[in-house]
Amino acid sequence: MRGGRREGVRPVDLGQGMQLNAAMADTLRVELGERSYPIHFGREGRRVLGALVDRYRADRRPFAVVTDRNVLAQWALQLDAVFGAAPRFVADPGEGAKSVAVLGQLLEFLATQRIDRTGVVFAVGGGVIGDLAGFAAAAFLRGIDYVQVPTTLLAMVDSSVGGKTGINLAAGKNLAGAFHQPKAVVVATEFLATLPPREFAAGMAEVLKYGLLGERVLFEELAAQPVISADDLRLPGIVRRCCAAKAAIVQADERELAASGGRALLNLGHTFGHAIEQVTGYRRYLHGEGVAIGLAGAGRLSARLGLLPADDVPRIEAVVTAHRLPVRLEPALPLGALMDAMQRDKKVRAGRLRFVVLANVGEARTHDEVPREAVEAVWRELGAS
Ligand code: ADP
Ligand code: ZN
Repeated sequence: MRGGRREGVRPVDLGQGMQLNAAMADTLRVELGERSYPIHFGREGRRVLGALVDRYRADRRPFAVVTDRNVLAQWALQLDAVFGAAPRFVADPGEGAKSVAVLGQLLEFLATQRIDRTGVVFAVGGGVIGDLAGFAAAAFLRGIDYVQVPTTLLAMVDSSVGGKTGINLAAGKNLAGAFHQPKAVVVATEFLATLPPREFAAGMAEVLKYGLLGERVLFEELAAQPVISADDLRLPGIVRRCCAAKAAIVQADERELAASGGRALLNLGHTFGHAIEQVTGYRRYLHGEGVAIGLAGAGRLSARLGLLPADDVPRIEAVVTAHRLPVRLEPALPLGALMDAMQRDKKVRAGRLRFVVLANVGEARTHDEVPREAVEAVWRELGAS
């Protein structure tokens, strides 16, 4: 955009000294000192992405694109237009790509394509691609730059911001990884047009999570009128508010080290959700669906501990349900297996049951030493047997 700037239009810093016409981009910065980076939003997000890629080209920095087959099938023409003949690593869709084997293939691919220390990896896909490509970028040549281009709602509002990258091991999910912040995130909500409805709803579970943990106004808006499809005109604004909420939390506690509260608050609903995913072998529920039941669980637990007014529980469940998400286990799962899975969760500190609870809608905190009986009672209410 150099030289082509019109008078009176404030340029937007794209990071790396790059600037873009303010009319095209709306930018939020994640402030992390020297690891700070912009999140770009725009109805025409692909134009923003194109401008970013062009700058890397102008600087003669080699780049590679990592995506999956589903994304490519839907967006091949647009990705060709933006990335041209840049090297492409196309993974099989699904969680299987977050494996030691595929990570190895990707690292070898980067080496074969002569990506050097000035190189850049573009992660174009859902959370799986972001986690895999981000970890590869963290490890390759001891760390090169990468840019997140999330194409699922879940990745836009959650996994693409914050710098957590990683893969799964046979012993469990996300057991190998690194904190590696991206150089930029480009949120192009037009990608959501091709997302299957079930995946869209799963992403809304994370949106509802932000509402419950700190964005009461957002929650009330979603309660008044649920967002059930990608063509809802409120969606770009909602995605932006979730990213801002996440950025604020990450800025305050980048590595999740706060003794209470902090980044751990992003796990609202996840202690229940992870246990559900684990006990069902990651097959029956999408991550967001597990989180949805987990939000109901967190609400119920909070009320049981005397923190959340009891009336809020049915209200929370009604809003989750209105977004076409589950709030009960169907069919029932064994209580013992769910409790065991919770104990093994890496967020559970030294065997103590630690939960994110609600003091109100829009107000979360961490709570240590939750009595086992309370958790078991909540599981039964959720449909455990
Ligand atoms: P998540 O982002 O929910 O963590 P994935 O990366 O596994 O999870 O993406 C969920 C599914 O959606 C995958 O099958 C992926 O291939 C597919 N997908 C991702 N983005 C799009 C899109 N924009 N349009 C259609 N399908 C997509
Ligand atoms: Zn999540």
